[in-house]
Amino acid sequence: GNYNLVDFLNEVRESFLPLADNKQINLIFDTDLQELMAWFDWDKLDKVVFNLLSNAFKFTPEKGTIQIKLRKENPIVKSLWDEELVIEITDNGKGISPKHINHIFDRFYQVEKSDNFKGTGLGLALSKEFVELHHGRINVESAEGKKTTFTVKLPLGDAHLNRDEKVSDDVQKPIMHEQLVY
Ligand code: ATP
Ligand code: MG
Repeated sequence: GNYNLVDFLNEVRESFLPLADNKQINLIFDTDLQELMAWFDWDKLDKVVFNLLSNAFKFTPEKGTIQIKLRKENPIVKSLWDEELVIEITDNGKGISPKHINHIFDRFYQVEKSDNFKGTGLGLALSKEFVELHHGRINVESAEGKKTTFTVKLPLGDAHLNRDEKVSDDVQKPIMHEQLVY
């Protein structure tokens, strides 16, 4: 469907506020935009942002900061579309070492397999698939022991969509997340 990304991100942020409160983490949504309409599958993009935020919460200690940013930019390479949306999720947690960073989008890859860090290692592999289904890209940058930023870029407009991709699903509603207990 065609939705306002600002509303979307506000809703996702809100669903994490109890967890943020629990861990005394400052969860910030930072954007200059009032409205940014884009064609996307609500449930799939919700899973992407949900996973990125879950990771940020998992790997950031108490009293940390997690920031969600939204902006528009022009594509760096020549594309079917003139503008793209950029969602950035930055945490000031443990970071990812250069040795591991090229593998974290692989299925089942986890830097540390332990009871402290539950999960299967599928979150980022799935997120990447969902982003690519939207003709987008996902990237990561990190400074070990300091911070990590995941960047999701998706095309704006509808020049890249075929007719089946432009279904108007007004009835589509956000799914409720299970309560997280990291
Ligand atoms: P799942 O998402 O299936 O519950 P997971 O969170 O371990 O499990 P991914 O989301 O795919 O799996 O992440 C893979 C690995 O990448 C993580 O186990 C962790 O080592 C590393 N990682 C991901 N996000 C961060 C982050 N924000 N900070 C530090 N390390 C991260
Ligand atoms: Mg995960």
